[in-house]
Parts: sequence; C-alpha cells; structure tokens
Amino acid sequence: MRPFRTRIAAFAFLGTSIWLSGAVWPDELPKGPEEDGTKPALTRIAGEGFMNSHAYQYLTELSDDIGSRVTGSPAERKAEEWGAARMKAIGLENVHLEKYAIWKGWTRGMAEAQLLSPTAHRLHIDSMGWTGSTVAGGAEGDVVTANIFDIDEEIKNVSRFRGKIVLVTQQGRPKKSFMMLFASFGDFLKAAHDAGAIAVIGGQGGSKSQGLNLTHTGILGFDNDYAIPVVSMTAEDQGQLERFIARGITPRMRINVQNTMSSGPVETANVVGEIRGTEHPEQILVVGGHLDSWDLAEGTTDNGSGIATTLGAADAIVRSGQKPRRTIRFVLFTGEEQGLDGSFAYVKQHASELSNHLGDLILDEGQGPVTDFMLGGRDDLIPAFQPFVAALGNVRPLKVNDKVESGTDTLPFSIAGLPGISMNQDTSEYKYTHHSAADALEAQKPEVLTQNATLMAVTAFWIADRPERFAAPWPAERTARMLRAQGEYEELKAFNIWPYGDLGAGDKDTK
Ligand SMILES: [Zn+2]
Repeated sequence: MRPFRTRIAAFAFLGTSIWLSGAVWPDELPKGPEEDGTKPALTRIAGEGFMNSHAYQYLTELSDDIGSRVTGSPAERKAEEWGAARMKAIGLENVHLEKYAIWKGWTRGMAEAQLLSPTAHRLHIDSMGWTGSTVAGGAEGDVVTANIFDIDEEIKNVSRFRGKIVLVTQQGRPKKSFMMLFASFGDFLKAAHDAGAIAVIGGQGGSKSQGLNLTHTGILGFDNDYAIPVVSMTAEDQGQLERFIARGITPRMRINVQNTMSSGPVETANVVGEIRGTEHPEQILVVGGHLDSWDLAEGTTDNGSGIATTLGAADAIVRSGQKPRRTIRFVLFTGEEQGLDGSFAYVKQHASELSNHLGDLILDEGQGPVTDFMLGGRDDLIPAFQPFVAALGNVRPLKVNDKVESGTDTLPFSIAGLPGISMNQDTSEYKYTHHSAADALEAQKPEVLTQNATLMAVTAFWIADRPERFAAPWPAERTARMLRAQGEYEELKAFNIWPYGDLGAGDKDTK
C-alpha cells in the first residue's frame, strides 16, 4: 500500500553470536535444513523452481490479459477467477474464494490540467484513488501553496483556499513524524473541501514524484475517501509551479477531474488454495501477495510479481512431489491498496483458527531480488531462522531481522501476534514503477522472478515442514509491547486501527 513511499525499513544485521558464545549446548542449537531433515525435499523443490518455472508465464497473463485490477472492479473480479483457475491447474487443494466487502468502490475518470499563465501548456496529473471530482467541465483557479510540514496551521487558515487550486509543498522542518502528518492530511483535505477549494495537487504529500514525467496514484489512508479531487503531478510540472510561486508569480491553471464513487460497499474476494499438511494439517502457514493493483498501468510489480511468485512457489512445491508436515495455504489477497482490507478480512474470517497459524509470508516490494526476511516483530524467531538463511547463502546473501512491515498484508498478522514475514527486496527500480504508468511487464526481469519464487517455495516449505512448530501467536500484551517498541502505535492509532487500548504501554509512556 505505502501511500507515500518514504518509510524505508531499517535493516538490522543480526549475527550468530548468541550460539557461538558457549552459553548454549550444541544439541540445543536451532537446526537448519542440513540438520533438521528438510534438505532433500528443499533440493527437489529448488530444482523445480529454477529449472521448470512458470512464474513469468503467470505474470505475463496477469499483466497483459487481465491488466489493471482495482479492488471491486470487473477486472479485479476477473483476476479472482483467473487466480482460482491457475491454482486448480497447479494442483492445489480446497481452491475457493473468500468473499468480503470494502466500504466503497471507485472508478477513475478523466484528469486533465492546463497551465494558463504565466505560460501556457499541458500539465500532467492523475487522480489519487478514492478521491472526488471537480465540477463538470472543470474549473479555473489560482495556484496557492499549503505547507504539509505545518498542516495544523494550514487547517486553521483553510478559508484562504476558497476558489483556489492547492499545491501541497514541504517547507522548513516537519513538526511531526511523516505518518502523523499523513494522518492529519486527511483532516486537511476535508477542511479544504468544506472551504471551497477546487482541487489539491498533493499525491506525494509535498515531495516530488519519482521518475521522469511519472505520476504515482494511491490511497490516502486506510479505507478513506475524499470528496475533493486530489491529484499526483509530475515532478517537472510541480517544480515549475513551485519556482513561479517562489518568485512571487501566482500561476493560474484549469483542472478537470471526473471520478466515480459507488454509493455503498462493493464485493471482492481473497483467492485461497492449499497444500494440506501430512502430520498437522490443522496448522497453517499463509503464503501470498496481493492480486489487486492500481490502474495507471498493468500492475506488474505491484503486486503481480508477488502473485506470480506465490503461484510459482506453489507450482514448484506441487511438482516436486514433496509434502509438508503442516498446511501451506496460498492466499491471493485483494483490497490491499485500500488499506490491507483483504488480509484484515482474512484474520477476521479465520479468527477461530488463528491459534493454529504459523504466520504469513508475503512478497510485495516489487520486482527486485529478495534482500532480507523481516519477521514482523518476532525477535524470538531469529535464532531459528538464521541457519535457514545461511543455508541459502549460495543462492543469495540474505539477512533476517524482526522488523514489522506495516505497508502490506503482513501487518494484520503482526497485529495478531504472529510473524507477518515480509520478503523484503531491492527497491531501486520499484520506486519508479510503484503505482505509476511504468508498472508494466517490462519492469520485471524473468530471472529475478524465478529466483524470488524459488526462495518463497523453499522458505514456505521449510517453515511448514521442519520438525518443530515454527511459531504460535504471542499473547496480546507481548504483541502490544512489541508494536509500541517498533513505533507502530503512533501510526495505527492515527489511522484508528490500534486494537490494544492501553495494553503494553507500561508505566512510563501511556499515550
Ligand atoms: Zn503492493
């Protein structure tokens, strides 16, 4: 989801010193594939994954034949059917759709803009998701700036935006964390709309759009919609507007934005298929990515790559003939881009069996190679995971840390006290394709996809098949403390999805 891509996960390299210190007996050491008996199966799965991969074929079908698939749209519903058909063809068991509804549907219409003075030319804009429209035919207005770093003051003085087109900028130093500014941004949009502003140019929260002449769409919060049109503008056009304003020149422009919001909730569904466990079928590892996408291109890297990785991993395991001790449940989530709605729905629909879950394993950082595993808050699992990544050292140098990834379908699992494991990736190219018109098949290198799918296959199988159960949910108090320690409290509270009240606050920092 990642409305503004500024939060970069911190990498913590965690060494192996705890079991080299001599304080632990060798036979108590966590076992990797070499010692725990999983290596022969992993070797066969890796062979299928590397030599017989269909991941790029899946990605091509999803990108070219289905294309963009906004949650609740006809194309997204078609993608669900495609995903279920692929799962059946792969040979997964118990393939089905798990329906739920999101609060509202949204359809993009036109977004056009022209600079009228001091020079005249076309401006490049696209609507942010779940935002509104100008009057029919568009409107003309002067461009005035609002400083997001001083958002609370801007809300107080919002009447000055009446009849204006508001350009969001960043001036000086932020007075709050970026996520807190983002949470207040919604209040600003409502106030600006009520005050009679024409539109807001602010998809990037005042920073410049990444890439040459690219806009980046996205949602503005968790399950939030706004009546005012909010657009993303290319860095080139925004830069020119800012330079004029800095020189005391007020640009004048015309903007015409037409979007459609549904009057009520719309239906969507997660797509589910399984490889049932042989010894503990009731114990479940969820493996997946998100099927929905934005709609400026084909949604290849966000998150077609994750879907192709997931299906490619399932395919490699099934064709290897290897059966895990516990169930691997592949889930193609929808509603991710609107606020992780599919994974929140999953956790709700499966509440009674969550205690039997081992966690979830998600790939949703684009097209790059996997760099590290983020264990979603579960520092207790690092010693067990370390020998596994060490065993993959000849495939890729991989690291493991306990960070929570709150920008994708890992978060609902981390909130539930389970390891929401993110297969973090090199995002040097994703920053351009993320939610932009460049998110097409050209962005994904097939050999990287094959490697990522194979890594997901062996990781899923190892977690599900190792003799000892990998993880069980933490109690609420321990989970709440962990989320606070990782800085998630502030953000989740700001977006009204913090579920733990004062739990875990301790005596020093009850907020
Ligand atoms: Zn995504």
